[in-house]
Amino acid sequence: MVNINSCPVCSSEEFKTVLTCKDYTVSEESFNVVSCDVCGFHFTNPRPSDDVLGSYYKSEDYISHSNTKKGIISRLYHAVRSYTLIKKLELVSRHVSRGTILDYGAGTGMFLNTCKLSGWEAFGIEPDLGARIIASEMNLSVYGTKNNLLHDIPETTFDAITLWHVLEHVTDLDDTLNFFKKVLKPDGTLIIAVPNHTSFDAKHYKGFWAAYDVPRHLYHFHKETVEKLLGKFDFKLVEAAPMKFDSFYVSMLSEKYKTGSIKYFKAFLVGLKSNLKANSAVDYSSVIYVFKRVKP
Ligand SMILES: [Zn+2]
Repeated sequence: MVNINSCPVCSSEEFKTVLTCKDYTVSEESFNVVSCDVCGFHFTNPRPSDDVLGSYYKSEDYISHSNTKKGIISRLYHAVRSYTLIKKLELVSRHVSRGTILDYGAGTGMFLNTCKLSGWEAFGIEPDLGARIIASEMNLSVYGTKNNLLHDIPETTFDAITLWHVLEHVTDLDDTLNFFKKVLKPDGTLIIAVPNHTSFDAKHYKGFWAAYDVPRHLYHFHKETVEKLLGKFDFKLVEAAPMKFDSFYVSMLSEKYKTGSIKYFKAFLVGLKSNLKANSAVDYSSVIYVFKRVKP
């Protein structure tokens, strides 16, 4: 286990434990979520060391890396995904009409494929070999994180970089955000979708909230902390958009963790209430943040 001694956002060394969450999908182990006394950033601490973190991803339940269609949750997830893929591309296209896009944490390449079919020059980075093999079967350009190709990408290559529920998994935030700063064009767009621990469903389920997803989720963002973190790397928030399906999906999983079985109607009501109680985009269960480079 690794102890994080300074806040990844503001470098403060003072934090307190606010929750203890269990890893329901793989290990059944418990992990603490701490909150920074200064900036309020939430992160998993201590966390597994980088060399063992991969073992916490080994589960058939971890469906974001697979294309299997077993089980009702998985079927719903895939149906909703097809719709949201189009919606995601519409959001990107509002800021950049066409060009070169990098999907960081591309998974099996579903979003990349959507981009490619719409005329984008699309590239992905994905650490999981199994996911990369599926992507390559669709003739998509998806690279691993441990090869030199990543470092050989020329500066200012991309018009857009997207991270769909990926930033919360990234072990080295500084390295990764500096990399984005390097390879994004000066007027480029960086799009980051992450769960929001200040949403109604998060507050309702507390430690059972499925989007804490410890220890795979190393960081737990909300508007102020994601904005502050990206600000350090010269990115300015220009838009936030809600992910309205996430409250339902996350509530279903959270019900399962809390009660041992999925109470579909209850989960639906919590998901609905979460969306209805959101006063603005940044209050939803998951939020898409759109950043632009601040011009030097
Ligand atoms: Zn802090």
